[in-house]
Amino acid sequence: MRYGFVIDNTRCIGCHACSTACKSENEVPIGVARTWVKTVEHGAYPDVSRTFQVTRCNHCENPPCVTICPTGAMFQRPDGIVEFDKAKCIGCKACMQACPYDAIHIDPQTKTAAKCHYCAHRVEVGMEPACVVVCPTEAIIAGDLDDPRSKINQLVSIRRLTVRKPEQGTKPKVFYIDGDHAALHPTAIPERPKQAMFGEVVTEQGTTVPGKPRRMAEQMVQTTYTMQHKIPWHWPVPAYLVTKAIATGIFMFLVLGWSFGLFAFEPNAMLWGGLLSIVMTLATTVLLIADLDRPERFLFIVMRPQWRSWLTRGAFLLIAFASVSGGWWLAEQVLEVPELARTALAIVTGPLALGAAIYTAFLFGQAEGRDLWQSPLLPLHLLIQALMMGCGAMLVIAGPAGLAPELVEAARIGLVITLALDAFVVLFGEFGVPHASEVAARAAREIRKGRHARSFWWGAIVLGHVLPLALLLISSSSISSSLVPGALAALFATIGLYAYEHAFVMAPQEIPNS
Ligand code: SF4
Repeated sequence: MRYGFVIDNTRCIGCHACSTACKSENEVPIGVARTWVKTVEHGAYPDVSRTFQVTRCNHCENPPCVTICPTGAMFQRPDGIVEFDKAKCIGCKACMQACPYDAIHIDPQTKTAAKCHYCAHRVEVGMEPACVVVCPTEAIIAGDLDDPRSKINQLVSIRRLTVRKPEQGTKPKVFYIDGDHAALHPTAIPERPKQAMFGEVVTEQGTTVPGKPRRMAEQMVQTTYTMQHKIPWHWPVPAYLVTKAIATGIFMFLVLGWSFGLFAFEPNAMLWGGLLSIVMTLATTVLLIADLDRPERFLFIVMRPQWRSWLTRGAFLLIAFASVSGGWWLAEQVLEVPELARTALAIVTGPLALGAAIYTAFLFGQAEGRDLWQSPLLPLHLLIQALMMGCGAMLVIAGPAGLAPELVEAARIGLVITLALDAFVVLFGEFGVPHASEVAARAAREIRKGRHARSFWWGAIVLGHVLPLALLLISSSSISSSLVPGALAALFATIGLYAYEHAFVMAPQEIPNS
C-alpha cells in the first residue's frame, strides 16, 4: 500500500478551500500551513495567465526528513504516509533542512515540527483527507497508488504527470497534472522577493523596470503567492561550528604533535589546552541545546536515538570525545599517569576528536534541501578548520601558560599551513568550481557576490586569512617576539572562521524550496 495524491491543475480554481479545510481539521495555528495554494502569473497585461499549484508534503518514498530526524519523531508508516510525532520532537529543525520542498514548519504552539500527514486519523477510519472532500472541483485525488482499482492508480498509469524536483531522488508521491514549470521549480524565477499579493512572500520577474526595455510577455513570470519558506538555523549553528573546531582541534594538534615527536609532552599544554577544549566543548553543547525549539527534550537524542541520523551519531561522538578528553585531562591533574596509559588515551582521543570535528559534514550531507552543503570536500574542510583552530588556540594560551618554544613553533607553522590550505579549499574548492545544481550555484553566488559578499571577502578572506598569514610570516624570526602577533593572528582567524561559517550556513537556507 502506498498512499499518494494527484493534483489536477486543469481543475484547480485557486479557491483555497483545501488549505482552509486542512487548517480547521488539523487545528493548524495562524502563520503556518500544512498545505497552501501557490500562485504563479505568466505574461504582462493584457496577455496574462495564472496558474495555481496545491503545495504540500510529497510523502516521499525516500523521505530525507525521516533519515535525518535524531529521535524518530518523523517517520514513514507502512502505508507510505510520512507522519510525525510531536511528543518525540526536540525542535532541532533538521527535518526542515532535509526536506527539498519546504513542506515542514515548526508549530508555533507546540514548538515541534509539523506538516501534512495525509489526514492519517481520517484515512484510518475509511475517510478521505479533509482537502479532498472539500475541493469543489475534485482537483485533489487521494488513494492507494498500488491498488489497480483506484482512480489515482489509473490516473498515474495513463496521464503524463510531473513531480517537484525529481532529481532529488526522494520519489515524491504528489503528482501534478499539467504541472507548471515555474511553479514546480522555485529557482526558475531568479529574482528575490519584492512585492506581495496577500501579504505573503512573493517573487517578481518580468515586470517593467524603469529604464529597461519591456520584455516579451510570454517570458514574464512571477510568483504572486506562496508561503512557508523559513530559515531554521541561525547564528548558534555557525558559532557551534567554531567552538567545536577549537575543542577538537586542540586535542588533534596535541596528540599529533606528541605522536610525531614534534614536541615533548608538557603538563602545561595539557592543563591549559585541555581546559580550553573542555570549555569549548561545553560551549558547543550549550549552543546546540539553545538552538533547539524544545531544549528541555535534548536528552531524547540519547534516550530515543534514531541511528541513521548524523545528528544522533554526532551527539554520541561529542559525548564520547568529551568524556575521554575530559577524563584524560582530569587524570593528568590528579594522578601520575604512566606513559603507557597516556599513549592509550592519546590513541583513543585522537580519532574521537577527528570524528567529532568532521561529523557535521555528514549531517549537512543529509540536509538534502540545501544543495551547497552537499560538497564532497566538507569532511576535509572541517578537518583543516579544526587543526587551524587547534594551532590558533595554542598560540593564544602560549604566553599565559608559558608553553615550550618547540610547541609554540609547531603551532605557528601549523597555523600558517592550515590557513593556506583552508584558503585554497575555500577559493578553489568550495567556490572555485562549477556547482552541481542551480540551487547550489545561487547560494554560492549570494556568498561571493550577493548579500554575504562583504562578510565573505572582508571577514572570512581578508580578516580570517590574509591578515593572520601576514602577521605570522612577518613575526617568524623570534619566538618571544612572535607571541603577541601569533595570538592576534589566531584571534583574527577565529573571527574569520565565524564569518565564513555564518555565510555558509545562512546563504543556502535563504534559497526558497517552494
Ligand atoms: Fe514530505 Fe519533505 Fe519529508 Fe518528502 S522530505 S516526505 S516532502 S516532509
